[in-house]
Amino acid sequence: GVCKMTETLNSSVFHRQLTETLPIAVAGTGPYLIDSNGKRYIDGSGGAAVSCLGHGHPKVIDAIVKQAQTLAFAHTAFFTSEPAEQLAQHLIVHAPEGIDHVYFVSGGSEAIESAIKTARQYFVEKGETSRTKFIARKQSYHGNTLGALSVGSSVSRRKKFLPLLTDTIHIDACYSYRHKKAEESLKDYGLRAANQLETAILEAGPENIIGFVGETIGGATAGVLMPETGYWTRVRQICDRYWILLILDEVMCGMGRTGSLFACQQENLRPDLIAIGKGLGGGYQPIGAMLSSATIYSTLKESSGALMGGHTYMGHPIACAAALAVQTVISEEKLLENVVTMGKLFETKLHETFDMHPHVGDIRGRGLFWGVELVSDKIGKQPFAADFRLHSRIKQCAMDAGLICYPGGGTIDGVSGDHIMLAPPFIINSDHALEIINKLHTAIDRALAEIQ
Ligand code: PLP
Repeated sequence: GVCKMTETLNSSVFHRQLTETLPIAVAGTGPYLIDSNGKRYIDGSGGAAVSCLGHGHPKVIDAIVKQAQTLAFAHTAFFTSEPAEQLAQHLIVHAPEGIDHVYFVSGGSEAIESAIKTARQYFVEKGETSRTKFIARKQSYHGNTLGALSVGSSVSRRKKFLPLLTDTIHIDACYSYRHKKAEESLKDYGLRAANQLETAILEAGPENIIGFVGETIGGATAGVLMPETGYWTRVRQICDRYWILLILDEVMCGMGRTGSLFACQQENLRPDLIAIGKGLGGGYQPIGAMLSSATIYSTLKESSGALMGGHTYMGHPIACAAALAVQTVISEEKLLENVVTMGKLFETKLHETFDMHPHVGDIRGRGLFWGVELVSDKIGKQPFAADFRLHSRIKQCAMDAGLICYPGGGTIDGVSGDHIMLAPPFIINSDHALEIINKLHTAIDRALAEIQ
């Protein structure tokens, strides 16, 4: 008979959390996940901004089955494959100007690792070998592999591994709720935040810097951080002035999440390298990618003739076929229009629900990418004591209420602060949107009742 586990206590899996018991997910349909007890959860965050098409999409399943039946794997040292070629073409047609090649990998961290290496190799090929350092930002997350962890700044994820990480310079995030001065306009604040990059470059010496790495819109570490108008334009000017590369991490905010395929398109930004993941395959297959500018690509082509790297599963045909199906559905069904429409509804309803809430300090986002920052005191913007672990309590209360949201702690400085992120599938309708926001309201109030 079929072994039906209902809890993971006797599990042999080395889980993320070793002392928690997890429900077992057994099915998914549209924006809902279903566990082994038959309980339904609305996937208000697509896991971690992954499931952009929701669950069980017939066209994606069909593409996976067909590809598995035709060709599951052909090593990329020997062959290319149709799904990889077509997916790359689709991405390049829709990519920002200047971006013209795609390097497929298996997830976001590998995409960032690839960008780090490509950027370094680019300067080595040009004879600029003194360039060894990256500048990145506080309150950013770029992945859990050692290179990605080095450029990221998640305090808790880095702490135990610090001696193994390479030296990165971290400037402040663009985080107006916390860092804008009362007398400053949003625009002036954005410019001041961007100008920190120039200060950091000059301090370290431009000849030592490879590039600036940043999430176009901040994600998991601080609960969606929106760049102020002019911020990225200024950053690009500074990068150009000192000949350093601009590497955008769009693993979370890209692939339509904010209403355009690449988040940087709404900032009129021209990056040199872009990392994507999550929504690329929508969770149907593990896949990520690095997109490269024509200049970098041709420099590598004309020197070493390769990026010194490579992974066994890069460009995996089934992963590429699934991602191609996901991206084709988004494009053919004009789902980014729904992201924009539903995004406006989210904005309105989040403000209606939480503007007067005594413990919601800030609501921020774009498209279907929203963050809510929690405070103990709204006027003083004081966070709750980190010991309360309010964000974990909200996660639990949300699951009890049948909602998946993506909470995080250390919002302000890696230690203090709590936020909740919402990143629902692009297929949601207004009933789904209201269900997510109402359940979040319930979860926040229940969690607060536990600690007050
Ligand atoms: N970059 C960003 C902005 C992310 O949010 C994440 C994952 O949360 C990553 C990189 C790492 O991606 P992965 O977990 O697929 O390795």
